[in-house]
Amino acid sequence: MTLWTELLANLAIVVMTIQIWTSSRQLVPRLGPLSGKLLFGLLFGTSAVIVMQLPFKLADGVYIDLRTALISLPAYFGGPVPALIAGAMAGIARLYAGGAGASTGLAAIVLSGLIGLVVRRIDNSQSPAAVILLAILQSAMVQLAVLAIPGPAGVAAFSTTFPALLLIVFVAVAMGSIAMAQELKWRRLQKMNAIYKTVIDELPDCLNVKDLRGRFVMTNPATAKLMQAPAAEALIGKTDFDFYPHDIAARFRTDEQSVLASGEPRSFEQPFELPDGKGGWLLTLKSVIRDEHGQTLGLITHNRDVTETRDLQAKYLQAQEKLALAMENMIDGLVSFGPDGRVQFCNGNYRTLFPMTAEIRYPERHYRDIISLSFERGERKLSHGISLEECLAKFEQTLGLAGSLQFELSDGRWIEVQSKPQPDGSCLMTYRDVSQSKHAEGALLEANGQLAALATTDGLTGLRNRRAFDQALMAASEERALGTVLLTDIDNFKQYNDIYGHPAGDEVIKAVSSCLKKEVDRVKGFSARYGGEELGAILPLCDIDTAFDVAVAFRKAVEALAIPHQGSTHGFVSVSVGISILPDAAPASVGDLLKLADQALYSAKAAGRNAVRTA
Ligand code: GH3
Ligand code: MG
Ligand code: MG
Repeated sequence: MTLWTELLANLAIVVMTIQIWTSSRQLVPRLGPLSGKLLFGLLFGTSAVIVMQLPFKLADGVYIDLRTALISLPAYFGGPVPALIAGAMAGIARLYAGGAGASTGLAAIVLSGLIGLVVRRIDNSQSPAAVILLAILQSAMVQLAVLAIPGPAGVAAFSTTFPALLLIVFVAVAMGSIAMAQELKWRRLQKMNAIYKTVIDELPDCLNVKDLRGRFVMTNPATAKLMQAPAAEALIGKTDFDFYPHDIAARFRTDEQSVLASGEPRSFEQPFELPDGKGGWLLTLKSVIRDEHGQTLGLITHNRDVTETRDLQAKYLQAQEKLALAMENMIDGLVSFGPDGRVQFCNGNYRTLFPMTAEIRYPERHYRDIISLSFERGERKLSHGISLEECLAKFEQTLGLAGSLQFELSDGRWIEVQSKPQPDGSCLMTYRDVSQSKHAEGALLEANGQLAALATTDGLTGLRNRRAFDQALMAASEERALGTVLLTDIDNFKQYNDIYGHPAGDEVIKAVSSCLKKEVDRVKGFSARYGGEELGAILPLCDIDTAFDVAVAFRKAVEALAIPHQGSTHGFVSVSVGISILPDAAPASVGDLLKLADQALYSAKAAGRNAVRTA
């Protein structure tokens, strides 16, 4: 055989091997990654063994084959596993053949595998540069390996084979690499295409491509579903006019033509309606597709059915409007402070309640600024002894606590504020003018006080009444306060009434009462109308002697009034007084105390009236 026949046979085997490997693309996806690599190695290993049987003679005694290319290619494209398998197969075959060049041949096999792996390590992108690097290293290694032939034969072989050997190996490796890189690129593209197709098919949004005449070239199932077509394929070659009412399809076409004319992508909302009456809104993005020369090919359209979203949006806006209306029409001032202390929203009445600072009571304003300005302008006045900082700190506390409090404005209005902290950290506050109820409350308190006073005051004399007297007596006895009780009764009063009439009798009771009050007040005592023309007094700070002096002074004061009384042996109105003392040891029985005073009073009467007696 001639050199060229053997060389071509070698190259043919390399090409065939790559062809077989390329044909295995259907098989590869079904194999696991390791099985794929094993087969890869086996295929190239087998080819290496075959080419070893067809060496071509480059010079006398120098036989070459392309086995090394069949080792470095799987090493570069498949990694260590195929490299090892192919290398091992070629190595074993070389050892089996034996001969003088066995060790050189073996070394060339090992180096081929290493070159493939090293280039793979340096640049695994299968780029032209990587392919050329692989071819250069591989051909250089083979050319230099000839030098390893022992003796002057090696040098002779080198000089006769250079550069033919270098070129042959370079061409074989470069061709093989380019073919394999193309195939792998194609496989990757196929894989990516499959992924894209899955994504597009599974996409809930509609995606389609139309040609310049508006015919569907590609659609996904979501588009078919929206257009109520049986399948995505059923749309191919058709236009919108086959599915939508004429006017809607025409509008779609106009939109598309405007995008085609401008060449710019456009997004818009389109109403749609199908023949069955069903319709809604589509959010559409249209964009021009061009080929690599910039020639317009058609349009890609991305549609999303936004009918529900639009309905929800409309409802949301309606609800918001209603809410805003309700907020503005509510009597209370309403404000929400965010977690950062700034107003989130507020209504008009919030400003109406605080006219002096209305212009600052708007969203985004901080409560510190609002409150500070309110004090600065005198809308509010600081309570005595409280600083602005303390007031602000109190407000901050209020923001975190549900409750209500009231404060007074400088113009006399009372405002009640209710705080309701929200789960998101904001706080909703309502402000209400409670001046009216506050003033009504004040009036009520006053009326209650007056009522209470009336309930314990005697109408005729202005002294405290029997009820107040009993209460005071009970309190004094419980407190074990040293003091005295004094009971007094107008003498022969029945007759006075009979002679001078009841109204005159009333005047006498008043005059006598005022004498008693005057004397008792002097010692800070408590005087009361006990009943009828009987009066009583409690003298908490007095001992019996002082009490006696008070009683005598009172008796004399009545005598000094010198009110004529024909029915009395004295000829004038007089009083008799009985005194008992509150014991300071055991709590005294009020009943006993009164009884003792009454007994003393009886003694005074018995002694001829106009007299004072102690128990
Ligand atoms: P004595 O000196 O023993 O007390 O004789 P007396 O007539 O005062 O007898 P007594 O205390 O029992 O009489 C009380 C009288 O006081 C009977 C009643 O007509 C009269 N009286 C009681 N309350 C009033 C009153 O509010 N106004 C007038 N004008 N008279 C009263
Ligand atoms: Mg009496
Ligand atoms: Mg009397």
